[in-house]
Formats: sequence, C-alpha cells, structure tokens
Amino acid sequence: MVLSLQDRVKQVSNLYSEEQNGMSLIIEPYNANWAVIDQDTKRILNQLTQSRTIGELRSKDGGNIEQTLTILFDAGLIEVNGQKNQSKSIIQCNLEKSLQLIIFQVTNACNLRCKYCYTDAGSGAKISEEILKKTLSLGICPPRDRIEFQFHGGEPLLAYDRVRNAVDYGYGLAEKRGISVRFSLQTNLVELTEDMVKFFKTNKIHIGTSLDGPKKYHDQNRIFRKGKGSFDVVTEKLGLLKKHELSFGVLCVVSDINVLDGISDFMIEYAIPSMKLNPYFNQGRAIKEESNQAHQEAYAEKEIALMHRIINHNKAHPDNRLKLNHLANMIKNIISRDRNYMCQRNPCGAGLSMLGVGYDGKIYPCHEMIGKNDLVIGNVLEISSFEEIFDDSETLETLRSRTTETIGECSSCEIKQFCGGGCANKAHNSGNLFNRFEYCTYNKIMYKNLFWELYKDPEGVLALI
Ligand code: SF4
Ligand code: SF4
Repeated sequence: MVLSLQDRVKQVSNLYSEEQNGMSLIIEPYNANWAVIDQDTKRILNQLTQSRTIGELRSKDGGNIEQTLTILFDAGLIEVNGQKNQSKSIIQCNLEKSLQLIIFQVTNACNLRCKYCYTDAGSGAKISEEILKKTLSLGICPPRDRIEFQFHGGEPLLAYDRVRNAVDYGYGLAEKRGISVRFSLQTNLVELTEDMVKFFKTNKIHIGTSLDGPKKYHDQNRIFRKGKGSFDVVTEKLGLLKKHELSFGVLCVVSDINVLDGISDFMIEYAIPSMKLNPYFNQGRAIKEESNQAHQEAYAEKEIALMHRIINHNKAHPDNRLKLNHLANMIKNIISRDRNYMCQRNPCGAGLSMLGVGYDGKIYPCHEMIGKNDLVIGNVLEISSFEEIFDDSETLETLRSRTTETIGECSSCEIKQFCGGGCANKAHNSGNLFNRFEYCTYNKIMYKNLFWELYKDPEGVLALI
C-alpha cells in the first residue's frame, strides 16, 4: 500500500495486548488478526488510539514511519482512512459455507461399552438400504460439486454390508452425476477383517479409530460389555491397517491428564504418526464419570510440555514427524482466516456445512446431535433436496446465530475468532445453546501459548501442521 502524508491512520478498536521479554503480543479480537511487535512499534501503535495524519506522526517520530504503519496495517491492527485490510469478517465468510459432510449413524449397535460414549450406543438398530440410498442421492447432486460421507455409529462395522453397498452405490451415482465423492469411516476396529481392509484400501476410505494411549489408560474406559479392556484387540487390528498402508487417524480421549506425559513415546512405539487428543466431555455416559475439567490449567501445562517434546522429536527426525491434529487445527486458525475444521468455526459447521442422518432417516444439524428429538430438522424420506430444510429450518437459523458475538461470555474475549466459542451440541447438553465452551480456560492458555511459540519458533510449530 502506498501511503501519503495526508492519510489518516487509527488503531482498530478493542486491541488486546500482553508482554513477554520486551515484546508485545497484540490481538485484534473481531477479525482474528495478531502480531508480536517490538517496543518502538508498540509506541507508535499507542499514539493511534485517536486518528492522526501520517504527516503528524512523521513530525513527531521522523524516520520511516510509513514502513511501520504498513506492517501494522498488514497485520490488521490499524485502519487507513477508515479502511481495514479485510473486507469481510470471518463470521460472514463462514456463513457462506455450503454442505460438505454428511455423517451416517449406520447402526446404533456397538460391541464396546465405553464409559464416555456420547450417544450411549447399544440398542442395536441398523439403517435401511432405502435411507442410505436416498441420503446419497440427495447429497451427491448439484449445487454441490463435491461431498464427503462418513460412516459412524454405534460401531459401523457391525453393519458392514450397509457400508459396502453404500460405497458402491455412491461411487456409481457420483460418476453418473459428475460429482466428486469421498468416504470415511469411524470405527473401534474390533470387527475389522483383512477383507474389509482391502475393500477400504481399494475404495480410498479413510479410517478413523480410537486409542486412548497406553493399555492402562485405554482399558480404563474403552471396555467390552463384561468390563474387559479392548487395547489388545485394537492394537492388533491397527497392525492390519499398517500392513496394508491404509490412511488412518487416531483419536485419543484424555480422561486422565497424566496420559499426556507418555503420548509421544506411545506414538513412536506404535508407529502412529498423528493423533487427535480430545478432552473428556460431560456428555452421554460420561456425565456419570469424574471430569478433568476442574484441572484445565494442569491439562494445558502438560499439553504444552508434550508439544515441546514433539517439536524436539520432529527436529531430530524430520523424515518421521509426529503430529497432534487438534493442535494443528489451532495453529491453522492462527496463521489463516480459513476455517476448514468445522468444529472450530464461528458459527460451527452444524447445519451449515454438515448434517447427521440417524439410522431411522431423521436429519440433525450434526452427528453429535443424533437422538435429540428437539434438534431433528427433517427426515430424508420426506424431502426432495437438502436445500429445502437449509432454507426453512428455525433450528438451523438459531444455530447460525450462535456466534461469539451472541455467546455472552465470548463477545468480549480476545481470542474469540480463533476459539469460535466451542461446540453447539455440548452447549445444548449444558442446557443453553448460548453457553461458551466448557474447556474455555484450557483454550485460552493453549492459544496464547501458541501465539508466542509461533513467534519464537515458527519452524518448529509449523512442522506440527
Ligand atoms: S469459549 Fe472461552 S476462549 Fe472461547 S471464545 Fe468463548 S470466552 Fe473465549
Ligand atoms: S455441534 Fe459440535 S461437533 Fe457438531 S459441528 Fe458444531 S462444534 Fe462440531
């Protein structure tokens, strides 16, 4: 940008600032802008709480004031002649997102009885071929040119025949209609066979599974009906995925924060290149369990230490890097305005970019909401396009209005556009859709740490993505 002496410059409103070792982290909360600046730059920024011309600033400061102002403008911390460097807010960009992901509850049956299961799976119903085909047909059609389907449960491998038929039917339809389609499947692996692995490999189906760290942690929660832990079976089946070089991701639910101390060693031992760590949420069966929400500071502290261990490992083994997917999502939110991960969007992806379809054909804004009668927005057997419900549903309108501007405690938060205010479904569990994220304290500590780490060691942090 070319600046002239008559141009008027001013700080954008509500800047947040904190100091470390003579440097300042400045965050502009409304549009996810931030920078770490030195004290000379901060002094100039401080003069801009009121509008000033560049000529006025130059007579006071001399030097190349234009260069400093360009840095501040590019970082989104000042406006020039009333103009910011971004025309649309992140919220506006997110509201333009279209349907990208449909998650099927293929069955409500499950062979495990995990203590924290959010759907309280187990009753045994299975989706019909008719519902599967109708959903695929509604999803694989214009205005979309691409769509992803995920098979979820319960445990979808207990309805493997349905999964197979859906994949064959979906690919056939996609080819006929010229639309790109992808499939993924979330499984506990217990029923996995070599034939299934070959089918998944041939059809490029990404597998997501769950492994809660070393045996002593995993077997506390991920148990069979009679209480036996599933670690030995799951790690054996994981070997099948590795043998056939299938693309897979691992989710680890952190029910005991001490698991974080050993996760990097565990990933190395079991050759798991990336993991997503999820905190233990108060939902489904977990409501009966003790929560670690009371220890969010300690949780964040242990995770920061884990991040440093992984950064060090990655520097020593650049060809064998480890990743933590949830941290990667946070880092992406910091370095970019894109919000591809729909659970850290503002508003989140529920009913905007994703839908959940229950085994009975009922449609929900998100798969986590499956089974909640007050959040049903239709039934696939009764509609002729998803756009019908997208335009008319009051529930979706309410969800889309759930932004950090309307969640009371989030509206004044300095990291609101990075955090997004948390999961709408978990807020619904708490009794008020407009409650903030239950791990708010953890998120604040983690994000602020990541800003500083990105400034101090950009190479190490960016290698985590
Ligand atoms: S949940 Fe907490 S960290 Fe996230 S935006 Fe709201 S107040 Fe900020
Ligand atoms: S409701 Fe929760 S799980 Fe569903 S898309 Fe929103 S943040 Fe993600």
